[in-house]
Amino acid sequence: MSYNIRSPFYAKGTATSLTERDSRQLRGLLPPALETMGKQVSRAFEQLRGKTTGLEKYIFLAWLRNTNSNLFYRMVLDSPEELMPLIYTPTVGTACANYSHIYPFLAPNGSFDGLFISIDDIPVLDQLIENYKNALPDPSITPDIAVITDGSRILGLGDLGVGGMGIPVGKLQLYVAAAGLDPRRTLPICLDFGTNNQKNLDDPLYLGLRRKRPEGDEFHKAVDSVLATLNKAFPKMLIQFEDFSSEHAFELLERHRNRYLSFNDDIQGTGAVILAGFINAVREVGIPAKQHRLLFFGAGSAGVGVAKQIMDYFVLEHGMTEEEAKKLFWLNDSKGLVTQDRGDKLAQHKVYFARDDNEGRQLKDLKETIEYVKPTALIGLSSQGGVFDAEVLKLLADINERPIVFPLSNPATQAECSFEQAMIHTNGNVLFASGTAFPRYVDENKKEHVPGQGNNMYIFPGLGLGAILSRPSRITDTIIYASAAALADSLTEDERKSHLLYPRIERIREVSAVVAAAVCRQAVKENLATDPRILSILPSGSSSKVGTPAWEELLKYVEKSMWEPTYKPITDKSE
Ligand code: NAD
Repeated sequence: MSYNIRSPFYAKGTATSLTERDSRQLRGLLPPALETMGKQVSRAFEQLRGKTTGLEKYIFLAWLRNTNSNLFYRMVLDSPEELMPLIYTPTVGTACANYSHIYPFLAPNGSFDGLFISIDDIPVLDQLIENYKNALPDPSITPDIAVITDGSRILGLGDLGVGGMGIPVGKLQLYVAAAGLDPRRTLPICLDFGTNNQKNLDDPLYLGLRRKRPEGDEFHKAVDSVLATLNKAFPKMLIQFEDFSSEHAFELLERHRNRYLSFNDDIQGTGAVILAGFINAVREVGIPAKQHRLLFFGAGSAGVGVAKQIMDYFVLEHGMTEEEAKKLFWLNDSKGLVTQDRGDKLAQHKVYFARDDNEGRQLKDLKETIEYVKPTALIGLSSQGGVFDAEVLKLLADINERPIVFPLSNPATQAECSFEQAMIHTNGNVLFASGTAFPRYVDENKKEHVPGQGNNMYIFPGLGLGAILSRPSRITDTIIYASAAALADSLTEDERKSHLLYPRIERIREVSAVVAAAVCRQAVKENLATDPRILSILPSGSSSKVGTPAWEELLKYVEKSMWEPTYKPITDKSE
């Protein structure tokens, strides 16, 4: 396979050496200047910062990534605080909502962002995969990971149909940036099974199928076919389910998690990242774990996923039985407190946590529920912006010396409260983590406080990398738990002294490496890892504590496997 100047993965633009320009017949096709990547990065930042809206910046960055992938990722790694919110939340939400209007401007002709699989394509799936392979710059480089959505529940924005493509595309960029996955080995997939969103159906520019989504068997059979075809084509590929509506998300996970190497980030990734923050919050609060009472506002896929994950913590770390641990949880959905005798048919995923000790009482109002439950932790996964108002926060601060408040809904407009509000109304005593990035808060003594961000990015890149490197036959709950525990323990001395619940985002690659190594170690311990290189470091069934030579070797191996955005000399082998 020879070098393709049009491939974003090999392009260097003005950094192409004179020898390469001559050997590739590029002399004259580029301006004469020979530049460093650093100079190109400064130019790209100049262009980026000249744009006024987030959407314009998103479009520019997508175009850059699809033109010169190394340059794009160099920028992301150099300035993650500036770039991450532009390539993922919150900007990606606007991009998905406007996808049909911006699509042609995201990539130069000839490059493509991912694979669109419509329900009408099911009979010709093999052909679709062939087309995809043929369009790759080098068909011998196959994907290690696919992120798949059907666009039915994008962030907190609902059914965006084919506009959901922005999510797997964005998420895989985070995998590359945060865990050093090779961008050539990532495959974003949007299943277009239709849309139930009238706004899409009425939009003359909408780019997806104009019909309602299938339900039940028809939906599952179509997904089964897609996954089987992908597995046949790429048997080692990890599948990450993303932003499926909750009624499908749980079922899909249970149906496929033991069949294919797969996980669901909304359920398991969110669960693990919040668990890690919660573990550190419990350490800060200082009361016995068993005295905690958790109220979940929002009982969708994220709410129930997080609750289950935190429950494991009480069982695994504090020796509680499942029943004892379950009793520490109260869930609240749009109809109020989730109880067994509420009178409506509870969605299957909520049944597990439905309370049976409410003595016939049905609570609908959040403040009343707080007075009833007396939670030590209030966790928002409801997409109801501002619902943790001053009264709610003050109530929590009255009940607890250090209330744990996690308003996790995305984007910022849907967050249950802001960091500033939480600090003000709890007299600065809150232990806070949000789903979206909030600005730092400066108190009246000019002291700066950093908000925790329960960003899934602390987990899924490391979890994905660990799974890709160790190739377990499946991803178990205990592997997910190991990723969360590793994240919780990854705080530095300085981060602990600053009362942070999560590491500083600048250390994301370091943290992802630790999480990935913990995933490999757990997969080995459970006799599930199959990769010979990992098994040569840690023999199957063995374990190794942090700090031991085997752990250090594993960590070094993980770090060395991370892709770096640099220009390599062009050879005829495009590797
Ligand atoms: P979902 O639609 O499955 O669930 C939403 C839940 O909120 C449902 O149980 C619903 O009944 C409840 N709800 C809606 N209106 C309510 C009201 N007025 N009062 C009480 N409850 C109400 O969505 P999901 O996948 O569970 O995601 C929920 C939110 O969590 C989204 O905003 C999403 O962006 C966010 N999220 C954050 C993270 C993170 O921070 N790491 C990860 C995943 C999801």
